[in-house]
Amino acid sequence: MSSTAEPRVRFAPSPTGYLHVGSARTALFNWLFARSTGGTMILRIEDTDESRNRPELTDAIFEYLEWLGIDYDEGPYYQSERRSRHHEAVQQLLADGRAYLCDADDNEVPGTTWADGWAVRFRTPPGTTVVPDVIRGEVSFDHDQLGDFVIRRSDGSPTFVLANAVDDADMAISHAIRGEDLLSSTPRAVLVAEALGATPPVYAHLPLLVNEQRKKLSKRRDDVSLESYRQRGYLAEAMANYLALLGWGPRDEVEIRPMDEIIGQFRLEDVNRAPAFFDLVKLEHFNGVYIRDLGPDELLAAMAPFVESDQVPWPPERYRAEVVAAMAPLVQEKLRTLADIERQVDWIFLAEPPTDEQSWEKSVVRAKASAAVLDDVIAALGSCPWDPETVKEAVFAAGAAHGLNRSKSQAPVRVAVTGRSVGPPLFEPMVQHLSREEVLRRLRAARSRL
Ligand code: GLU
Repeated sequence: MSSTAEPRVRFAPSPTGYLHVGSARTALFNWLFARSTGGTMILRIEDTDESRNRPELTDAIFEYLEWLGIDYDEGPYYQSERRSRHHEAVQQLLADGRAYLCDADDNEVPGTTWADGWAVRFRTPPGTTVVPDVIRGEVSFDHDQLGDFVIRRSDGSPTFVLANAVDDADMAISHAIRGEDLLSSTPRAVLVAEALGATPPVYAHLPLLVNEQRKKLSKRRDDVSLESYRQRGYLAEAMANYLALLGWGPRDEVEIRPMDEIIGQFRLEDVNRAPAFFDLVKLEHFNGVYIRDLGPDELLAAMAPFVESDQVPWPPERYRAEVVAAMAPLVQEKLRTLADIERQVDWIFLAEPPTDEQSWEKSVVRAKASAAVLDDVIAALGSCPWDPETVKEAVFAAGAAHGLNRSKSQAPVRVAVTGRSVGPPLFEPMVQHLSREEVLRRLRAARSRL
């Protein structure tokens, strides 16, 4: 089965939904295998199910492969354009007696020429098919379990197994690397390929992705679409790095690293068969590391869609790009996603930043001496020079007078000005980007609410 020629692999998505993390992992592992072996990566769109295909879903596949940095050397091929070839293969199987026609009641009808209204079934011989799988070893399937399966429906459309096997054969695919959910269809594809005189690819079924409860990731329960990760501020590089580790790990155990190093480390035979935990906490950690690694301009460019979208909570006329540019290096360390930037800067752009009630309770209502601290700060900030150092010292002095340390002194001021008890370094942005009048107004509003 294996050949000494350079590998030819394919990513063969069915465009029936938005690209999800499991499919992206499949695409990535095919690509890693191709790029690490000097092989060829092929993109094949399995769009034979016309009722479920939508063009925008195919476009989304292209878009997200590109986003992740997964390129291909051949394709995209469209399975729907290969109808006549699939028909020809069915005819060959009929002519060779490897398949037969069925009527609407599923009775075999004599003849070898397909006509509308008849389905075609593969004549499964007795025996067993052993599929050598790079990841699972030899998996055997008893033919009794397979039965005579449909390869062409009565409406003339080829079934998944037929089209998949024919296309793999015609495209000289050497390795079919794909999700474990397809394992059970493999013996059928192998039987079809062999009946057509082709050599089936070597299979490698990637382990299932599971969530925290060890349940198979599902569209219903879990956030699985790549689009949603991108929209929530995950960097493509972090995502791709993380996806590479779902079922595989480098022998030197260094997990966070550039893709060219991953290519250098990747071995298909090192993929394990145990279900891979899609760990959101770990992904977020990776994302934070990648965000910290961005240079100043890269960081601003990556953040731009999150502060300049039409979803932002502030009125567009109050937005100032230079404020974000000044804030970015101050908050870079804290960001877990690019979308986190919104909460770091919104209090500057909002005329009335909403107060987080938990912060209000904790840092103002239940905090010691907060009314007195606010009174003293309001008095001090009314006339002191408006520079960050002086303002900071005035706030700390006000707190110290009531026995508070620096962080406790700052807390009610932070909540009054930003609406929250956690956020960016306070004094520099507050003094640089808000006027004295504006800060005093917010402090007074908080004081009067107390
Ligand atoms: N089109 C199939 C799917 O999207 C994959 C087929 C394969 O990789 O062999 O589930």
